[in-house]
Amino acid sequence: MPESSAFPRRAGNGGSVFLLALLAGLAAYFLVVRWFGADDDPVDRGFQVMNTHARVVVPEGTSEFPPSKLADMAVAAIREVDRLMSPFGEESDVRRLNAAEAGEWVEVSPETWTVVMDALRWHRLSGGAFDPTIGPLKRLFRFDGGELRAWPDETALAEARSKVGAQKLRFEREGMRLIRERPGMLLDLGAIAKGYAVDRAIEVLLRENVASALVEVGGEIRTIGMKGGPGGRPWRTGVRDPRKDDVLAVMEMSGGAVATSGDYESFFLFDGKRYQHIIDPRTGMPLTGAAASVTVRHPTSCMAADALATTLVVLGPDAGAEFLRGQALGLFSEGVEVDMLFLGEGDSLKRIFMSVDREGNFSSPKETPVEGWGVAG
Ligand code: AMP
Ligand code: MG
Repeated sequence: MPESSAFPRRAGNGGSVFLLALLAGLAAYFLVVRWFGADDDPVDRGFQVMNTHARVVVPEGTSEFPPSKLADMAVAAIREVDRLMSPFGEESDVRRLNAAEAGEWVEVSPETWTVVMDALRWHRLSGGAFDPTIGPLKRLFRFDGGELRAWPDETALAEARSKVGAQKLRFEREGMRLIRERPGMLLDLGAIAKGYAVDRAIEVLLRENVASALVEVGGEIRTIGMKGGPGGRPWRTGVRDPRKDDVLAVMEMSGGAVATSGDYESFFLFDGKRYQHIIDPRTGMPLTGAAASVTVRHPTSCMAADALATTLVVLGPDAGAEFLRGQALGLFSEGVEVDMLFLGEGDSLKRIFMSVDREGNFSSPKETPVEGWGVAG
């Protein structure tokens, strides 16, 4: 009877078994070579996270890990920040706090705690221009497709304003717990969490002794070393034209962070005016006529660059300069450079530059030409 098996056994096939083993061995060899070959390739990975686009570039591996594995680790660090701080996720500390009863303590992760404490520091330092409890006003001025349906009435505005104010967010260091004092308050880390996510990814890579990398989340960028390793060239990042789909200037960077805020990526038009997604907590209104974009370079912290860029959009050039000067010898601003872009006549651009050097000296705002800015393409 013939054997009825999917894998019929045959007798006397020693030769073909040997041949098969040889072929399998060769196939495995080529697979491994191909695999490691591919594994050594530089990685430039784009992905969606935190409601925006992110990118991790790792040109070289380390003795321990190939670039693809290092990129995996950086991506995981960014996704973890999203998981903890997104306004929506099931496991998000922000969502849990916002859903809790007013007056109820909510314990948060050490990561969220760090970001909230930093956000509260920015709130205090900026005299309230930066406010991580802006949520209710943001919700009131929610817009789809660049258009606000109706301007909120006074009652709704007053109601939302009463729920905004970081001083109404109480905290207890031990236990890392937070309380919203008022019902309807909403924590919103949108102006600072992207920079923090970049820093976390960069920290992971630094811990693995990566000599060269770039991490970006929604335009907030930080780099390690030179592109292509030691002896390579600096990383190049573009400053976008806030009104055209074009690069205005190319900046070189090696090891620093850069963040941009403004009205070019997210805005709405109402009564012929363009309003930003950044809200002045002191008036409760979305900004209009403010800087079209503010770019902040910071030597060591993308979180600081991110928070500072948003703060300076709210403060504007004069109060912004005052603020920077006041902090010039402070911890956060040494080595900071700021470029503010304003729209002039007929969509011409006005650029205002100011900086704090590493010795803490503040350079007053200077109107600086846009032409010839940055390095040649
Ligand atoms: P960014 O793009 O970093 O400037 O952050 C903008 C986001 O921060 C907005 O979409 C809001 O979620 C939030 N936000 C708006 N206004 C403020 C403000 N005055 N302070 C802190 N966060 C704000
Ligand atoms: Mg920001």
